[in-house]
Amino acid sequence: MNGTLVIVGASYAGVQLAASARESGCEGRIVLVGDEADAPYQRPPLSKGFLTGGFSEERLPLRSQAFFDEEKIEWMPSMRATHIDRTHREIQMHDGMRIAYDHLALTTGARVRKLDCPGATLDAVHYLRDLRDARRLAQTACTARRAVVIGGGYIGLEAAASLRQKGIEVTVVETEPRLLARVASPWISAYMQRAHADKGVAFEFGRKVVALRPLHDAVSVVLDDDTHLQCDLVVVGIGVIPNTELAAECGLTVAGGIVVDECARTSDPAIVAAGDCAAFVPHWAQDARACRIESVQNANDMAKVAALAVAGRPQPYRAVPWFWSDQYDLKLQMAGINAGFTHQALRGSVEERKFSIFYFRDAALMAVDSINRPQDHMLARKLLAKGARLSPQDAQDPAFDLKGVVQ
Ligand code: ADP
Repeated sequence: MNGTLVIVGASYAGVQLAASARESGCEGRIVLVGDEADAPYQRPPLSKGFLTGGFSEERLPLRSQAFFDEEKIEWMPSMRATHIDRTHREIQMHDGMRIAYDHLALTTGARVRKLDCPGATLDAVHYLRDLRDARRLAQTACTARRAVVIGGGYIGLEAAASLRQKGIEVTVVETEPRLLARVASPWISAYMQRAHADKGVAFEFGRKVVALRPLHDAVSVVLDDDTHLQCDLVVVGIGVIPNTELAAECGLTVAGGIVVDECARTSDPAIVAAGDCAAFVPHWAQDARACRIESVQNANDMAKVAALAVAGRPQPYRAVPWFWSDQYDLKLQMAGINAGFTHQALRGSVEERKFSIFYFRDAALMAVDSINRPQDHMLARKLLAKGARLSPQDAQDPAFDLKGVVQ
């Protein structure tokens, strides 16, 4: 590839795509545009160490300026693409500038889903997606005493743990009957709920927020059963919406995400997409429905696949999905997708807070969730990549050599 590659979106997928395109032999111009002013940065610490104060802002950048210079990647901050002209292969920026491309990569990510009720725009309401959100929240958390966290997903729970660690009283409001309902098994949900309750977090399950009312120096969060929760800080973590408007407006196929094939190619051969914004049919899927995966792993691995497609050497995306979340002293790591599991097996010790749950559909291993057992997690990724055979009895037998199966 000798022409110009333009990448829209400068977070994990965009930065990785630029780096991998160079590594894969793309010698032409690589332009990386992003609408944020800050150099591309790590997001996971924003809800954890950055909020508690243990992870400083200087450590956040994904790559140094020297890296962009050496690799001749033209990173353009504070630039928002507003239109794609597929006929002339040009993108238009918010300031009227036009950039011609031979290959275009969309790594536009996702934005937070906003709370939609009266009072949703009060100053006390915070989101946690980008660095500006995190800076503002970290500042407020220095003086806050009582917080209501809306949403019991990863973001809500990580925020809850960080705020508790700062001595703030926390109540989590979740519409579902359990935590992490979208991503975790009921067993893990219950375990995480106990862990938070032990640290003093209160819960309101099956409840919706109907209004936020300003009080003198505080906010009252009103639930649909007329419970009023008084607080001085509200953190909302109710999921994200993929940024697909640019793609839809220029006629690319969009269905819950920018639809790509197994090599990260969109419906236009000159355009690839990767990361949170891209929808694809995963190789492990039971049906042909395209889905999106919101994780750092997916952004990085899919970007590598997209870069190969740009370089003219398409390879199918086959990586095992994995996720992690740190809450208090618990490191939760998930490998694979457990949807539809029929059996589970416990390995390790719940009392010692070091264990893994292995999930099987009939005889096949589908996923492994580990708490404070990073060695199990690393092996699980290898087991799943290999399609290794082991039984639930093997998994729960401490004498069974997991390493032996992957060798
Ligand atoms: P995030 O990345 O923001 O954590 P998830 O989708 O993993 O996103 O989790 C969001 C959680 O918020 C889910 O558990 C969902 O049930 C919950 N949720 C969604 N809307 C509301 C709402 N209006 N009030 C409370 N909880 C909500």
